[in-house]
Amino acid sequence: MSFEDKTIQCSDCGVNFTFSAQEQEFFQTKGYTNEPKRCLSCRQSRKTSRYQNGGYGYRSQRQMFPAVCAECSKETEVPFEPREGRPVYCSECYSKVKLSQQ
Ligand SMILES: [Zn+2]
Ligand SMILES: [Zn+2]
Repeated sequence: MSFEDKTIQCSDCGVNFTFSAQEQEFFQTKGYTNEPKRCLSCRQSRKTSRYQNGGYGYRSQRQMFPAVCAECSKETEVPFEPREGRPVYCSECYSKVKLSQQ
């Protein structure tokens, strides 16, 4: 099977880029069935941003502790360990309590 250069419009920046015969062959050997939707620079920037987000997201994943809201008794999760004697609020009540304290 032979390949021909294809022109594809990038779905991100709208630029026309060439999906070359060589790349198509490479795609096929990799078993990719979809054509690229983005130009090389968009693909590269997506890769790096995905990597950064992934890395950041992983590290910023905080442990959540189950708690019961002191205001509405709803079950909620808080990013810190609830301690006895300290009221814990769900996000709704927390913003209400915060507002009423101002
Ligand atoms: Zn692009
Ligand atoms: Zn609540």
